[in-house]
Amino acid sequence: MNKAIPKGATRINQRLKQFPKRHLLLVSTIAASIMGVMALLPSAEVEAKRSEISMTIDAFQPPESDSGLISSNRDTQPDPFTSTPGADKAEATVEELKQELEAKALAKAAYDLEQQLGNWHNVTIKSGDNLSTLFDSQGLNANVVYQIASTPKYGKSLGRIRPGEILEFRVNQEGNLTQLRYVQSRLDSIFFNKTDDGYQAEEINLAPEIRPTYASGTIDSSLFLASQKAGLSQNLTMELAGIFGWDIDFVQDIRGGDTFHLIYEEKFLEGEKLGDGDILAASFTNQGQTFTAVRYTDSKGDTDYYTPDGKSMKKAFLRTPVDFTRISSRFDPNRLHPIFKTKRPHRAVDYAAPMNTPIKAAGDGRVQFSGWQNGYGNVVFIEHPNNIVTIYAHGNKLAGLKKGQRVRQGQIISYVGQTGWATGPHLHYEFRVNGVHRNPMTVKLPDAKPIAKSEIANFRKRSELMIARLEKQNEILLATQ
Ligand SMILES: [Zn+2]
Repeated sequence: MNKAIPKGATRINQRLKQFPKRHLLLVSTIAASIMGVMALLPSAEVEAKRSEISMTIDAFQPPESDSGLISSNRDTQPDPFTSTPGADKAEATVEELKQELEAKALAKAAYDLEQQLGNWHNVTIKSGDNLSTLFDSQGLNANVVYQIASTPKYGKSLGRIRPGEILEFRVNQEGNLTQLRYVQSRLDSIFFNKTDDGYQAEEINLAPEIRPTYASGTIDSSLFLASQKAGLSQNLTMELAGIFGWDIDFVQDIRGGDTFHLIYEEKFLEGEKLGDGDILAASFTNQGQTFTAVRYTDSKGDTDYYTPDGKSMKKAFLRTPVDFTRISSRFDPNRLHPIFKTKRPHRAVDYAAPMNTPIKAAGDGRVQFSGWQNGYGNVVFIEHPNNIVTIYAHGNKLAGLKKGQRVRQGQIISYVGQTGWATGPHLHYEFRVNGVHRNPMTVKLPDAKPIAKSEIANFRKRSELMIARLEKQNEILLATQ
């Protein structure tokens, strides 16, 4: 929907969804509280957005004060459209005169068009509003709503209006809706224009200016406080934690004195900051050990983070394939079975989670089995490279995968339930290597694929450049402290 967001950003969001649960839980709790605060002050922000975007994309509309002047001062000042060239133009060539007349005719035509189109009225959509009430408030009847909602390609978009978005109505003196702008964000809007038979529409997507920015911080108590002090948004902090989350446990491993440095993008529109873009390069020093990551987009358009020597920052497997609320049973070869009360080894981890929480494939692979098995209930077996098989049991319902089907890391394969031998909704997760059960919480996970050989030369150039920038900024910072 939001075309201004580069492909890479979506991928990172997908990546974020795959992070180990503990990190995400922390991150989402903080994000939720921030959003709660933000919800209290939307209107000023929305107003600012609106005025900025109308300046940008409305080439026709004269400034409001101007149109007032034209009508009230018409008697006392020379009419700009009808006054003829003066005597001082006597020496002007016929060609110049023609050009001047043409320019005046054009200006007059533009002015007349303005008058025909009418004035703009902007409405910020509130919760509970619908298209009919909004149009009604502008004196437009159900017939107009029907007409505009039937606009080819974009009419349907009006069925998805959300609070905070803006509708800009242009109604002429006859009470006809001549133009409508559906402003979804500072960068994205849909522009409807009246034609002889209904409306036609086009999508307008502005590209923000991207500026690389440097930030750094030292942790006293938590990454979130330190990054806030460094001026980073919560989203950027989540991204930073996401990049290093495969190596650093941001709940257990963080110590006072840990440091981070990063270069990230800031997005501007007409000099005003809209938000942040991607992290381009970052380093994180945790308990004396430094991890460095560089963002790289390969020739196929796939974006990921790599170490300076081209290894993936990710692992080939998610540590936990579900957003769980607690671990209800650990890997324990000597456990008493909760139902049978006999000594039954538990060669898996049970992650308790609400009913129907999505279960994700821990790594890329192929479906070996997806269906019902006694004891396991609804269960999925996935075969991965290097003789690794992962098993996801007790699903309430399955995602409908077929045997042999390819799955990608993070893809939803089932939903938490308590089918089979289970005392409450949970995911029973097994990790088998060469047929032997390993503890999913501690087994050493293989790295994800490194940079492709064909990309190495390009990657090196990019990586050296970004790391040199990071180090240079860091030196400047140290020199000024
Ligand atoms: Zn279990």
